[in-house]
Amino acid sequence: MNYTCANCGQEHDDWPALVYPTPLSYAELTDEEKKKAELTSDLCVIQNPTDTYYFVRVVLIQTVVDACQDLDYGVWVSLSEKSFKEYCDNYDNKEFKTTYFGWFNNHIAPYPFETCMGIGTNVEVDNERGRPFIYLHQKENNDLVHDFYTGITTEEATRRIKVALGN
Ligand SMILES: [Zn+2]
Repeated sequence: MNYTCANCGQEHDDWPALVYPTPLSYAELTDEEKKKAELTSDLCVIQNPTDTYYFVRVVLIQTVVDACQDLDYGVWVSLSEKSFKEYCDNYDNKEFKTTYFGWFNNHIAPYPFETCMGIGTNVEVDNERGRPFIYLHQKENNDLVHDFYTGITTEEATRRIKVALGN
């Protein structure tokens, strides 16, 4: 989709959001386990014999340094039971705003798997705006966190979009 940019007045391609339809923890379940889990476009609950895990769909905005737009990711974080229940209770409450702690729960290319695991995030909920935005907590020697704060190039953003679209 082309659009006229309010920033520079030129025509740009509107980049698609790179969406992960489920948390990584769900994607790794067997078919049998998936039947027992709950999954919607925004919420996911996984139960195993000893524990229950709660996930919500969020937005990660990757800054692109030499472009007029950023690259949006549709990803998932795990929340505590308390946070998840409060989030669900307020799902239709447009005035609901809060901040939760969440663990990042997707494997984003081109980063190695280990790079994407164990990243803490602030989950900024503002129902008037839409899905929560996440802000990654600082972590040393982590390229995903580093790029989130310093930005990627248009060349890199375009490469990621092409990979996501399969061409
Ligand atoms: Zn522009």
